[in-house]
Amino acid sequence: MSVLSDRIAGCLDSASLVRKMFEEGARLRAEFGADDVCDFSLGNPHLEPPSEFKDQLRELATDPAPGAHRYMHTSGYPHAREAVACSVSQREGVEVPSSHVVMATGAACGLNIVLHALLNPGEEVIILAPIFPEYRFYIFHSGGECRIVPSKPDFDIDLEALAEAISEKTRAIIINSPHNPTGRVYPEESIDGLTKLLKEKSDELGRPIVLIADEPYRRLVYDGVEVAPVLPRYESTILVASFSKDLGLAGERIGYVAAHPSFPTELIEGISFCLRTLGFVNAPGLMQRVIAEVMDASVDLPAYKHNRDLFYEGLTEIGYEVVKPEGAFYLFPKTPLEDDRVFCKRLMNERVLAVPGSGFAAPGHMRISYAVKPEVIEKALPRFKTAFENP
Ligand code: PLP
Repeated sequence: MSVLSDRIAGCLDSASLVRKMFEEGARLRAEFGADDVCDFSLGNPHLEPPSEFKDQLRELATDPAPGAHRYMHTSGYPHAREAVACSVSQREGVEVPSSHVVMATGAACGLNIVLHALLNPGEEVIILAPIFPEYRFYIFHSGGECRIVPSKPDFDIDLEALAEAISEKTRAIIINSPHNPTGRVYPEESIDGLTKLLKEKSDELGRPIVLIADEPYRRLVYDGVEVAPVLPRYESTILVASFSKDLGLAGERIGYVAAHPSFPTELIEGISFCLRTLGFVNAPGLMQRVIAEVMDASVDLPAYKHNRDLFYEGLTEIGYEVVKPEGAFYLFPKTPLEDDRVFCKRLMNERVLAVPGSGFAAPGHMRISYAVKPEVIEKALPRFKTAFENP
């Protein structure tokens, strides 16, 4: 009998694909040496935070002012919330007051506290396949049900499929652009179509369907592509973002939730309550103070673009079918074999790690993270070729 609750034991079973990749990676490194293994399985930003971040961190860490390490207002330091509110208002073109910002322990925390605040037992949250697998567990922990809706073959939103999936049970939909695992940035027309559909469906239901825009990759876009702002298009929108990727701070756990100003303050009180009582208490204090000063700085974006181009061009030249990613740091090619798990095993024989698309509810694909040094991509391309030619 498991020492775990049935709920959690069940989660571990269904999360086992990604876990398995992790274990396989460790096995390969032990057998062949770390340098010979090309690991594209983890979305762990490899670029260092910008120098502005390190300078500010040094300065604030030695600030002698008393009280800097105490508890604070659950939603965060007023000046950090104000800085986020200014930045969000500027880029969205909607005035978001600091009262509608909650500092969070990364986007993962932001999503969890929003879902906890919104969901009644059994209410549905729609997520779009290919999915970010963790959403299923965030929704599960919040007492909701997950409804997966497929996207178009080019990974754009399939509005018809979405319209069919919305029912009286639908409480919210999560979108993520730039998208993990495909790198897709939804075009403006798709966001227009989505928000129009949500308005119509909300009117039919007599209550708003909440649109949660999960945007931790928002500033990781290439070739001048822009992420269409959602707040001006749909009032019942809650933005969730973090500095994990654009400032390279994934381990420091700092992000935020910003709600449309039309929401009553009750929503923010509920989200703050969940932040506190789920045990986060407040977002890390030192990080709040640092990012308040440096949130416009960025990791070396051209380095990610270089990797994207190198990998995309290399794979398409070999013959892989890939939708060109416009942002984030992932590629999501079709696998030459229909069975993505078998093909990823084949790649493992070449000491290359990619995650089967089945783990993202999109079989027949594989996810490749290019948050790695370009040398690893160069080393891996001939191996991708061998596996493609002899699958
Ligand atoms: N949402 C998506 C789509 C992600 O890919 C990630 C992390 O990889 C997160 C949320 C969580 O981000 P954070 O590290 O800021 O919690």
